[in-house]
Amino acid sequence: MKLFLVLALVATSALASQRRYDGYQVFEVNPKNKVSLEVLTKLRNERSDVYDFWTDPRNINLPVDIMVPPAFASTFINLMRTFEVDYKVKIADVEAMIEAGRKDIAKPIIRKEPRLSRAGTPRYSLNWESYSDLPAIEEFLAELSAAYPNLMTTTVVGQSYEGNNMNLVKISTGGTGKKAIFVDGGIHAREWISPAYVTWLIHELVENYAAHPQYVDNIDWYIMPVINPDGYRYTFAANGDRLWRKTRKPNPGSPCIGTDMNRNFGFHWDEGGSSDLPCGDTYNGGVAFSEIESQIVRDTILSVAPQTMVYLTVHSYGQYWLTPWGYTSDYPADYDQLYDLAVRAVDKLTALYGTQYTIGTSTNVLYVASGGSDDWAKGGAGIPYSYTVELRDTGRYGFELPATEILPNNAEMWEAFKVVAEDVMAM
Ligand SMILES: [Zn+2]
Repeated sequence: MKLFLVLALVATSALASQRRYDGYQVFEVNPKNKVSLEVLTKLRNERSDVYDFWTDPRNINLPVDIMVPPAFASTFINLMRTFEVDYKVKIADVEAMIEAGRKDIAKPIIRKEPRLSRAGTPRYSLNWESYSDLPAIEEFLAELSAAYPNLMTTTVVGQSYEGNNMNLVKISTGGTGKKAIFVDGGIHAREWISPAYVTWLIHELVENYAAHPQYVDNIDWYIMPVINPDGYRYTFAANGDRLWRKTRKPNPGSPCIGTDMNRNFGFHWDEGGSSDLPCGDTYNGGVAFSEIESQIVRDTILSVAPQTMVYLTVHSYGQYWLTPWGYTSDYPADYDQLYDLAVRAVDKLTALYGTQYTIGTSTNVLYVASGGSDDWAKGGAGIPYSYTVELRDTGRYGFELPATEILPNNAEMWEAFKVVAEDVMAM
């Protein structure tokens, strides 16, 4: 009997195996001129079935991280040499790093106690010393909404392709006519630090309300912590893929699954910097808003757009604070205001621990990427201040950011968010 049990366990673990990345390397490459930048953007849009771009090509002299399978390493190196692109190996074995990172994943929640204690104290297993799968995030949202009904409500605004909840958190002290900030996270599944920050932001606004009541008394916050829940779950799943980026809807006629939600929004959709190939990691979906998740985010934003002054979509990694437009290197008409707020927010962020963020302006971001949610929030929904934030790090660990960095990442980003909130209060 005992032996049978052991054998059964071995069989289960052998079957339930995540996609492996043995021998995969991450190269940092530095395009020195326009031609080499164009080679990289072409690779990204046409060969992202082979070369996984961990960061976007943005401009000359801004390094790009690319994961290369072992079978393509020499081809890749030859290509870089041909076009005189500087390269170096940044991560020598991606599988080893993923395995080392497994210690940073929170154990699945096993509920032993009833939901709320008699004192109304929320009980949730989520913490910011490890990375948590969707069930723990949903438990956190339910517990906090139940404990603070006058501050926070969680609404299921729809279901994903696989039937996961799309949760909208509203943090508000009520009343009408208030300005709002809209925040979302987890659009790219593998960017785990994004939901880890956005959930912490909810915690800070609600459980630490008394420390800074002005940010909730004067502002309505709309927050969607995981807008690609199918992809996010897949990065944790026993038979999943830690480095999954896209949604999980199959593409008819293709063996490849999923669409890049951040190329799927309908403002100047498919005008460059996205892939028309379903196997591409930046696949734009074939038509704007092809994904149910993008539709739900669109409709949710539109429902609160008239009061919303700022849209912040939280990604990783690279430490960038990016302004529209993504689809063109032209400036928006009110660019000076967008840039001014970004500079002041990043200054406060850097003041805490010295972490450097690059403010992505039209001048230092040459490469276009159309169909982004930030472009649509500004151009489609009319939200004046729209930003994409790329959290820690700059690629030492990339998506495998050690869990010990969650809290410092969150603390410094909160400094920036406070600047944004102060500005909204004055708008
Ligand atoms: Zn992203």
